[in-house]
Parts: sequence; structure tokens; C-alpha cells
Amino acid sequence: MESVYEKGHRSWVSEKVCLGDYFSKFEAAVPNTTGATRNIMVPKLMDVSLSREEIKILSDTCSIDQLQVPEEPRVVDVKCVKTRPGLFDKSKMPETSELETLKFLSKRIVNEEVIGNLKYRSGIWITDTVSKARDLKVGKQFLVIVRVYEPFRHKVGIRKNHPPRCDQEIVLLGHQMLTDLRDKIHCPSDFAVAGELSENPDADLTQRTMDVYKSGFIFIEDTFYNDFRHHTNLDYSHVIRKWAATHGLGPFKTACMEKTKFEDLTVRMGYPYVYQHQGNCEHLIVFSDARLLHGNDSLTSKSYPCYRSLSSANARYCMLCNLYIARWITCENERVPYDPCYFCEHCFRSYNYVDGKKVGKFKAYRFFDKTTAL
Ligand SMILES: [Zn+2]
Ligand SMILES: [Zn+2]
Repeated sequence: MESVYEKGHRSWVSEKVCLGDYFSKFEAAVPNTTGATRNIMVPKLMDVSLSREEIKILSDTCSIDQLQVPEEPRVVDVKCVKTRPGLFDKSKMPETSELETLKFLSKRIVNEEVIGNLKYRSGIWITDTVSKARDLKVGKQFLVIVRVYEPFRHKVGIRKNHPPRCDQEIVLLGHQMLTDLRDKIHCPSDFAVAGELSENPDADLTQRTMDVYKSGFIFIEDTFYNDFRHHTNLDYSHVIRKWAATHGLGPFKTACMEKTKFEDLTVRMGYPYVYQHQGNCEHLIVFSDARLLHGNDSLTSKSYPCYRSLSSANARYCMLCNLYIARWITCENERVPYDPCYFCEHCFRSYNYVDGKKVGKFKAYRFFDKTTAL
């Protein structure tokens, strides 16, 4: 795939790593990876002898806090994200005032200075824990962190100005299946109602597209992992592989998504792979980290997969009233200047129907905004 991937735009990418092998080898070399034993074992394996002070200096120097560039924005504090900046005047206040409102305002201004320029500000960090039972051990199992990007239509050069936006970060255990990742990915196109509904907007809405079209694949390195959990599922990769063969790309392999564990995968950290579903809804996915469980991770297997962060994207509003969140999309609608055009429930009914009868030509589809679907 290197021949078609834009090399000029590539950020850091690791060498290929077989996740299962990597952590098995680490486990064999460092049997007990917790606490003081690790601090003794690791220098031994590296064939160096270090004093306690030297280890301290080394760990401070290698701390992730050092992974910064000058003037890098601060990492976001969730409390700060919840406060809304820009709601008040920042002009100077009398310092000696006893007014409670001014005291409170000065606190807000301090907060605003903190949140004015923060790293990961567009993401909401969340804890997605479901149970307190502890059946995992620190340093024994490993986690993978997968960043899933919003779907986008690829056009040459478009990523320069509009880079794909990370929509969700999902944490999984090494022994979990690729289907666990697929089921956790939240995409509004799975919640849409199948079919064009302009003639009958009151049609039964019980069937979502994810109930009807269950096919999908995840493409990693040179393999298409197809979801065949349902007997009607299609091999989406078939047409791509056929096309690739005539364009000097490949050969590509196929495998079953439901039979592949993360520990069986060989991946490159930071390299973009693809998840495709609902026909042509394509998401980039990137493995951003793989590490052993820490003491401050959830030690309950039922907690995984879980979200580490979600994008704080704004809702899509009705293009007519701009007041309510969109519930409908119309296409080829000759009475509006946008194609597609987003409508709230009220505007959709009042503008496109008179006494229940369709006005003009258009196609209508149900729309589920992701901010309302989560
Ligand atoms: Zn999607
Ligand atoms: Zn509206």
C-alpha cells in the first residue's frame, strides 16, 4: 500500500509489530513486570548496572512529560472543558472590590487563561467502566488503543486542508476479537433508517441500517478482515481486490473478522488502516498504543472494549430554522438551495408537505445526529 499512500503527509509510523509475540517475548524476558522487580530486571537485561539515583534520573528523563515541544498546548483538564470560555468580558476589574460577582468572575478569567490553548481540547475524556470485579492482572494482559476517524470522502489533496478528524478512541484487550472493535465503533450511518421515505415519512422506523446491512471489513496491512457473523453478509473486499489486481496493487489476503484476535495481528503504530461498512462509509483507524495493563486501568475484562475519548463535535442543525437538531436529509430537492439539505422534524413536515401531500420532487432520508445518538 506504500505505493499509493501519500508519503509526504506521513507522520511517525512504527515498524511492523506482531502484538502477541511482542508481549510474549517481554513476558518471557521480564517475568514480573510490576514494581521494584522491574526496576532491577530491566537494567540487568540491558546489561547495565545503575544505582537507585541513576534509575530515578533515567525515569524522569524518559517520562512522557518530556514528550513536548516548546510552547506546546497543555493537556486538557476535563473540568476546564466543562466550563465554557468566551462568555464574559476580560477587561480589568478593580482588585479591591468586595462584590461576590467580581470575585467569581476573576476565578473564571483564571480558568479561561488555562483553557485558552489546550491540547486535545476537542475531545471529551471519559471513563467507561461497567463492573468492579477484578479478573485481570497488572502487567499480564495488554491493551491496544485504536483511534477511529470520522468518515470522509477521499479526494486528492483534500486532506491538506481538511485532515480527518479523530472521532473516538477505543481501548481493547489483546485477546479480544476485531469484531469487538467493530461493534464498539459508533457511526450515525448505522442508525439511519434504510430507504427513501419522501412518499411515506411516517413509515415504521424500527429497522435501522445496521439491522439490515451487516457487512463490513477492517483492512490491516495486506489483509481484509471481513465480518461473516451473519450468513447474508457480503465480502465487501471482493470488488476492491478485483480492481487492485488490474492496477498492479496487492496481492491482498482475506480473513474472518470474528476469528481474529488483536494479539494475532501484525500492525504499525500510527499507520492508517481502514474500516468500511454500510456500503461506502469509510473510517480511517490507527493503532496509537499497545501496552501492558497498569494499576490505574480498569482490571475488569467486562469493561473492555471501552471509549477513552469521544470527539466533542457540534450537532448538525436544521438548515431552515437553525434552531433544532436535524432529523431529516433531503436530496435533489428542487425547492431548497442545498443538496443535501438538513431539516428538523417541524421544518421538514411544514415545508415539504401540504395537508400530508408531498410538494415538489425530492428524496428524503432519516438522519440521526451522532450527538443525539450516543
Ligand atoms: Zn461509518
Ligand atoms: Zn428547523
